[in-house]
Amino acid sequence: MKYCEKCVMPDTRPGSIFGEEGICQACKNYAKGAKVDWKERFEELKSLCKRYRRQDGYYDCIVAVSGGKDSHFLTHMMKERMGMNPLLVCVADPFTHTAAGVHNLRNLGESFGCDIVVFNVSIDLFRRVTRIAFEELGEPLRFIEAVIYTIPFKYAVAFNIPLIVFGENAAYTYGTTTKDNYSAKKYIEAGHSAAGEKLGEKITDFWYERGIPMKELNAIIPPSREDLERVRPEAIFMSYFVPWDDERNYMIAKRYGFKDLHHEWRREGYIEDYGQIDSVAYLVHLWLKYPKFGFARATDIASRWIRKGKITREEAKRLVMEYDHKLDQRAMEDFITFMGYKPREFWDIVEKFWNPELFENVDGLWRLKGPVYSDRI
Ligand SMILES: [Zn+2]
Repeated sequence: MKYCEKCVMPDTRPGSIFGEEGICQACKNYAKGAKVDWKERFEELKSLCKRYRRQDGYYDCIVAVSGGKDSHFLTHMMKERMGMNPLLVCVADPFTHTAAGVHNLRNLGESFGCDIVVFNVSIDLFRRVTRIAFEELGEPLRFIEAVIYTIPFKYAVAFNIPLIVFGENAAYTYGTTTKDNYSAKKYIEAGHSAAGEKLGEKITDFWYERGIPMKELNAIIPPSREDLERVRPEAIFMSYFVPWDDERNYMIAKRYGFKDLHHEWRREGYIEDYGQIDSVAYLVHLWLKYPKFGFARATDIASRWIRKGKITREEAKRLVMEYDHKLDQRAMEDFITFMGYKPREFWDIVEKFWNPELFENVDGLWRLKGPVYSDRI
């Protein structure tokens, strides 16, 4: 396990690219941002919006939202700054939602005066697919994540709205590609071909082969080629047009009434209280990176903070040491209650995901070998 020399990201992150000099691609892409002509990119966004803006009052874009700080920022950009008339499309998960999360989704529609479509997958289906993905892959929300990227395209086609806006291009921002571009159409292309799918399969095959009938897989089946050809939806990442900054998004969101978790829930393993705050059990999904890849949320956030100069690498190491390994108890309880596991069953399933190349078992507990903070202990 090697760590980036600038941030604290290890090379175990799936798809991560590390240069010879020991710097991760996320750091390199961030540094490239300083040389980008952001004024020109902003003009590009303006001309793109001009192409799709409608004068008749009908929706002229879809913004894919969760209700979080980034959703507020995207809606601010499209409605307030670009003068578009967005339809907000949200895919909800059926786990318990925080009071802040419930407030924020309502606030998003109310504060910006936008219509919101909330798409809820069948709870029964959700439980079955989440069980399969958790037990087999250690990736419980694999299904719902596919839904999140498919549903906006389905609404685009059904409502005849040819522009879809997503937040950050995760592959570029978090360093699994060197290519910076605005198109988010890969999400839909992945559904049409094996390319881009992790297991090298068509998006439905994985579930179908595990006994989920096709008639239950609608939410991840992309629109047909004919429908896409008719509407020709363009799909863009906002992070191409404006520098992506979590904290800026958070500050702007607050001006529209976004609430963080500060007065509600101090999450174990977290170093901020404004990201991924709506769904309680979702944190289990995020934490499972830890046994599999040896890092979790504190590493992600601390690395972003190093890149923007908010903290030093030494300070980040301390945060990683203190927070990265912790699975929040409330999140775990919400997850097992919803899924119908006993705590023991949960940990028995997790047991098989600890990567023995990264962890050693000491008296029944897994300890990270050579952590980034090893010079501190
Ligand atoms: Zn780095």
